[in-house]
Amino acid sequence: MMNIQLRDGSSVLVIGGGPAGSFFAHFALKLAKKHGRRIQITILDGRNFIQKGPGGCNMCAGVLPETLIRKMESQKIVLPKSRVQQEINGYYFQTQERGIQLHHPKPGHKPKIITVFRGNGPRFSELTANISFDDFLLKHVASQGVKVIAAVVEEIELPKYPQDLVNIVYKEAEVRKKISADLIVGAFGLNTALIKRIVGKEFGYREPKSVRTCNAELYLGHSFIQERFRNTIYVFALGVKPIKFAAFTPKGDYITVSLIGSEDITKAHLIEFMRHPKVCELLPEGWTLPKDLCICFPKIPVTHAELPYANRLVIIGDASVSYL
Ligand SMILES: Cc1cc2nc3c(=O)[nH]c(=O)nc-3n(C[C@H](O)[C@H](O)[C@H](O)COP(=O)(O)OP(=O)(O)OC[C@H]3O[C@@H](n4cnc5c(N)ncnc54)[C@H](O)[C@@H]3O)c2cc1C
Repeated sequence: MMNIQLRDGSSVLVIGGGPAGSFFAHFALKLAKKHGRRIQITILDGRNFIQKGPGGCNMCAGVLPETLIRKMESQKIVLPKSRVQQEINGYYFQTQERGIQLHHPKPGHKPKIITVFRGNGPRFSELTANISFDDFLLKHVASQGVKVIAAVVEEIELPKYPQDLVNIVYKEAEVRKKISADLIVGAFGLNTALIKRIVGKEFGYREPKSVRTCNAELYLGHSFIQERFRNTIYVFALGVKPIKFAAFTPKGDYITVSLIGSEDITKAHLIEFMRHPKVCELLPEGWTLPKDLCICFPKIPVTHAELPYANRLVIIGDASVSYL
């Protein structure tokens, strides 16, 4: 492996403008500034976060824990209220037999947990403001000098000789282009066709093992949610196989239901979960899953990747590590 140093004028291309890509760009710029170097960072992402539904969304429960919020604040990245769906007071843990309110280990501590939509809200919703968390982060780094290109990367061409630059081929507005960089950062997550093009390349990258999860947005209305859930995230362990973890996350007029299992989750598992008496108890009487449901089945990594780096390439975020 070559010892590469970024110099004045070096260019870094980041594939993916999710949290990993945006946070990388934020910290890389800061580090470069600290060392007195001017580097050009460009993020390429094909997703339009201003779109509603899975097409504009990086598909998750959207809970920002206290540690993340504090770290963002220490970096002067302050999420405006317009992008926050709900402030959360705590968690309620529901098993088949009983449920308990979980308290912070420090008595009297008021947790700072918030919920967000990663994209611009559920499909079929009538929300009009721009509420996307990922769009906010991307705009933040753009304001720091990062260039953002709406494009899908199709190929990474690693250098033949270590001193050569690395190339990517990408499609922007139907036009195929190629650019070179000193460093490529792969922050493309797991829900991308690009992975198949990288696995098998000679540097030996293997993506993390993953399972398909399920998120669905349930419209229950703000007042019902306030009354029933009281700013609490419900976590369930109900013994419904193969579900290992299920949660109800309040977000304004919606509850995001998230299911993670020991195998791929399907819509049939969601239907079965929603029929469980402990789940029905929380919903309006006679409530059924609507036909127009915003639902997605994103992958979640359950192991780390193998060899997520090569000369002039480093892979980060979900495509590299797992916190499960
Ligand atoms: C069911 C579920 C619930 C979760 N709940 C939470 C939670 O409550 N809180 C939390 O912190 N985390 C949660 N997560 C995890 C979280 O979603 C991920 O850890 C996080 O999104 C990973 O960020 P990333 O930037 O690595 O990848 P992603 O968020 O997947 O972003 C990757 C980006 O790369 C872009 N991209 C992909 N391929 C290309 C290409 N070829 N060219 C250009 N761009 C490309 C995509 O458009 C996307 O914007 C959850 C995950 C799941 C599955």
